Amino acid sequence: MSHRPFRLLAAALALAAALPSLSATVDDRIVDEAKNRSQAMRHLSHLCQKIGPRLTGSENLDKASRWAMDRFRAWGLKNVRFEPYGTMPGFDRAPGAYARMVAPVRRELEFTAMAWTVGTDGPLRGPAVVAPTTMDELLAVKDRLAGAWVVYREKLGGRGSGQTAQPNAEVEELLDKAGIAGRVRATSSERIQTHGRPGRPDPSKPQKPFFLVRSSDLDAILDFLALGTPVTLEFNSVHRFSKEDRPIGNVIAEIPGREKSEEAVILSAHLDSWDGPGSQGCQDNGTGSTIVMEVARVLASLPEKPRRTIRFILWSGEEQGLLGSSAYVRANEASLDKISAVFVEDAGGGFDAGVACTEKQAPLFRTVFERVAKEFPGLAPEVRVVDRMPTRSGGSDHAPFVAKGVPAFFWRKGGGLSYGLIWHTQYDRIEQVRSDYLVQACTNNALTVWTLANAPTLLPRE
Ligand SMILES: [Zn+2]
Repeated sequence: MSHRPFRLLAAALALAAALPSLSATVDDRIVDEAKNRSQAMRHLSHLCQKIGPRLTGSENLDKASRWAMDRFRAWGLKNVRFEPYGTMPGFDRAPGAYARMVAPVRRELEFTAMAWTVGTDGPLRGPAVVAPTTMDELLAVKDRLAGAWVVYREKLGGRGSGQTAQPNAEVEELLDKAGIAGRVRATSSERIQTHGRPGRPDPSKPQKPFFLVRSSDLDAILDFLALGTPVTLEFNSVHRFSKEDRPIGNVIAEIPGREKSEEAVILSAHLDSWDGPGSQGCQDNGTGSTIVMEVARVLASLPEKPRRTIRFILWSGEEQGLLGSSAYVRANEASLDKISAVFVEDAGGGFDAGVACTEKQAPLFRTVFERVAKEFPGLAPEVRVVDRMPTRSGGSDHAPFVAKGVPAFFWRKGGGLSYGLIWHTQYDRIEQVRSDYLVQACTNNALTVWTLANAPTLLPRE
């Protein structure tokens, strides 16, 4: 090669480098939009800080669903809709809830009450009395029970706190009759988990508020009582049940396929969360919902349309037992064979660390993950090859698809964010999230679903 053509070639290459939009591939533009112009933290902030936690059946979840649909429409997504699949008693917590020790010293308590339980009518102040466990103990405190907060010494276990040695049923019944203000128990750690079962209070049974506080808060109360120092507690946690049951449903939006529009790749996450005081439903699952929305925005901004439909779904009722995804699978039983793959983001705010798939499925993922590794050094997703796709799976919204043989993938997460700390607790807040992880996950999902939607065939089933 002579020098002159070489210089021309060098000049052409320099020009191409200066004008990336002219030579960029679709993948380059996806990466550019997802990585360099990310709006992910903006979506997450709106969802978690403006709207807040989003219990299934709550006004907050309605608000979040409407907001997500507005955004999808504004970004040019098609077939944007709310697909109802049932109803549920609406349960909302009034803002400004608190719990505190007001005497002998003032101390704010971190607390929760289970969803769909009764709260207080407003601030409710009363003396703390250690819970009697026998009839003799009951008789000893019977004159101090009216209006008292009954405090249990025994702490409740960790995950899924709610199970413990059964309190004495006879004593408990008499406590209700004695007109106590309510009951206070503690977890065995500083984490307070909120859960609950959808329903309405049984009017035939006495309904007393039941609050859960941190281990250290209970210790502080018991320490004063052990010294004979009276303790006054005040709880303000106003709970409202809707008059009528509320519709619950999934939010769906699409980029219709240009060739095989009946075939689809689904990217999904649950929009609902638990709603304990303090929690913003951020890593469970504001981050997953944010990824679905941001990928929708990024891919809808491309002038190209995918071969197959890309469907974005925000589930509800996940926390009550995968209600939304199960209903979707039931309603679409006849067309499940047209779904190439389903992706679920619901393992917290870490970066995407990869998926488990079969050797036949692996090549597409490997291509995408190589690109992600290049863009996010140190945050590379990996393929974990398994002999066969599972036929059963639990934990999140991929499970109903897995049970029907649809390739459904639950993103593993990396980065060491402490999911155990935040899981259903007061610590599930935006402060715990890392934006670089979120941007990696958005970019990874955008490339993955785009690649699958344009692949020559559906993803192999096995
Ligand atoms: Zn959860």
